[in-house]
Amino acid sequence: MRIRDSIHTDRLPLSYYAASNNYPEAFPRLEGNVESEVCVIGGGFTGVSTALHLAEKGVDVVLVEQNQIGWGASGRNGGQVLGGFGPELSDYEEYEKVYGVDAALKVWQLGVDCVDIVRDWIVRYGIDCDFAWGYFDAAMNEREFIELKAAKEALEKRGYPHDLKLVSSREINEVIGSDRFIGGLVNEGWGHCHPLNLVRGEAKAAEKLGARIYEDARVSDIKYEADSITVDLTWCRVSAKKVVLAGNAYLGNLVPELERQVLPVGSYIIATEPLPADVIARILPGNHAACDQRWALDYFRLSADGRLLFGGMANYNGTHPKKIKDALYPKMIKVFPELEGVRIDFEWGGNLGVGLNRIPQIGRLDDVTYYAQAYAGHGVAQTHMAGRIIADAIRGEDEMLSIMETVKHRAFPGGRLFRTPLLAAGMAFEQFKETIRNIVS
Ligand SMILES: Cc1cc2nc3c(=O)[nH]c(=O)nc-3n(C[C@H](O)[C@H](O)[C@H](O)COP(=O)(O)OP(=O)(O)OC[C@H]3O[C@@H](n4cnc5c(N)ncnc54)[C@H](O)[C@@H]3O)c2cc1C
Repeated sequence: MRIRDSIHTDRLPLSYYAASNNYPEAFPRLEGNVESEVCVIGGGFTGVSTALHLAEKGVDVVLVEQNQIGWGASGRNGGQVLGGFGPELSDYEEYEKVYGVDAALKVWQLGVDCVDIVRDWIVRYGIDCDFAWGYFDAAMNEREFIELKAAKEALEKRGYPHDLKLVSSREINEVIGSDRFIGGLVNEGWGHCHPLNLVRGEAKAAEKLGARIYEDARVSDIKYEADSITVDLTWCRVSAKKVVLAGNAYLGNLVPELERQVLPVGSYIIATEPLPADVIARILPGNHAACDQRWALDYFRLSADGRLLFGGMANYNGTHPKKIKDALYPKMIKVFPELEGVRIDFEWGGNLGVGLNRIPQIGRLDDVTYYAQAYAGHGVAQTHMAGRIIADAIRGEDEMLSIMETVKHRAFPGGRLFRTPLLAAGMAFEQFKETIRNIVS
């Protein structure tokens, strides 16, 4: 398997998701010049959800994706559908710090509601993407368990509307069959799905509502004229009144201002062969998506056909590892020793966008140019809310976008040449601090 090629190909990268794509039919290539009210650049969750929110309100929208819908992080991720909008939902004080005391509750609520958008669309448009409820935050030690207990209490105090259950070491085998964890917190308001099928299903829904969606449509330049914007694809163009930049970690230097404040960070996943029913019943009996509490965390879940999808290994140095399987397999065996010897059918990775403060960046560059990026590892549900915030603002309701714009996002230090190695050094330092904390606690 040639992983490097599969990461950088213009087709969907080889992955379990691409191999189980329920919406393989291509969207058309743009052959001539077109006009539209809004042009969205980028066909991941940010772009597709913006287009679908707009199409639902009858706004004329064209979306252009340089490769295929879901080619970027949206079609490659862990499929964990989690709430929160920047800070953890359990850390309300952080919402007050980041967004201000007056806006904190509204943004906190976005962090709850973003999952509802995903659920509502799956139901409304009949999207075939294996959605399942249930998420488990797994604790490896007493300190993490106590933090999760406090998180549960904080969420309940704030009126979190979904069931939460603290799982002790006695009950842990009901959720996860692994000696690595001593307990954790089940959140029934979060879940998991097949993200490529979700994003392509949403794009099909937007198309049915009148959005024009084009694949193989790379934007090379954006030119501003007196009364319109020209989105240049070299061989043709889209003329629009407003433009939405949704390229995130893959936008490159199309808009240097945005490139400076987001860094692509690699994350990787392996998928086992389908596992026997008795193994599944032991390792994840409740079909929860799960995640540990470390800085460089492991995340895993079952696919609908009974594979374990095991992810992790954040890579901050701008390159992808040659052998994803060799790096992730031992981590998987540490969590589930009984999987020693199972076959790995797929391995893949992709880039997610990270900003300096790890808060989603949603705003306007000017009156007609909107953008959203840098959701870090929590983007599946958050992109759906970002799309709604931008679509609302385009239609003249910009209260939430204005709140997002109060957060100042700085460029990474070090310029183009040094910001990646600087970030890698910073992250290595964070991991070092965590190791020390675990030794001490
Ligand atoms: C391996 C991995 C695991 C992850 N796991 C999870 C998880 O379990 N849960 C979670 O919540 N989040 C997870 N994430 C993060 C999540 O996937 C992202 O935050 C989210 O998908 C970002 O969506 P997006 O639309 O902003 O960006 P993307 O999905 O990356 O889409 C950007 C698109 O823009 C296109 N584009 C860029 N430039 C141009 C151009 N010039 N012209 C036309 N098109 C262009 C690209 O081709 C790309 O398709 C993970 C990410 C990765 C990589």
